[in-house]
Amino acid sequence: MLLILKNGRIIDSKIKNAISPIIEHDDMVKVSGIIVHQTGGSTANSSLSSYKNKGANGAHFLIDKDGTIYQTASIYKQTWHVGKLKSRCVLEKRCSKAETERNKTYNPSKENEREQKKSPPDRFPSNKDSIGIELVGETDKDDNYVAVTHEQNKSLKWLIEQLELTLFIPFTEVFRHPTVSRKNPTEANTAQW
Ligand SMILES: [Zn+2]
Repeated sequence: MLLILKNGRIIDSKIKNAISPIIEHDDMVKVSGIIVHQTGGSTANSSLSSYKNKGANGAHFLIDKDGTIYQTASIYKQTWHVGKLKSRCVLEKRCSKAETERNKTYNPSKENEREQKKSPPDRFPSNKDSIGIELVGETDKDDNYVAVTHEQNKSLKWLIEQLELTLFIPFTEVFRHPTVSRKNPTEANTAQW
């Protein structure tokens, strides 16, 4: 279990405080799930300094290649790390007839609108109700994300377990970003937890 201060900061010897209020948005009332990302950059510093720029987006945690965990936003605040949601019933092969019909027209914005009206687990966790974890990692010349390091996976596994225990998040509600949004399918592909 993690010790969380009233302001949403976690006190733990394994987590460094790098909270950047610029990437925090509305209050997060409920945490339904966790989304795992890769940053697209090769260093933690490039992400940490970008989170200080006006209009920047980020997630709640950043894990460096050496396994160092930074908390970058309060866990009681929303961050904008997910984007438009894909239809969850498609992945789980349980769409209604009407939904299957609507999903035939390719329109990510409308699909997202329909999803946002649902509640988890009928939809994937969204910006409103998910914790985002970024793993430092760039893409190669073919636009594939580099493999997550052993140390990163170890820290990721620990952090996810602690968040699940502390915030009562079901283990079925942890996803890689490309599972829930239309993103480069190799993002966080090698992440394990
Ligand atoms: Zn992402």
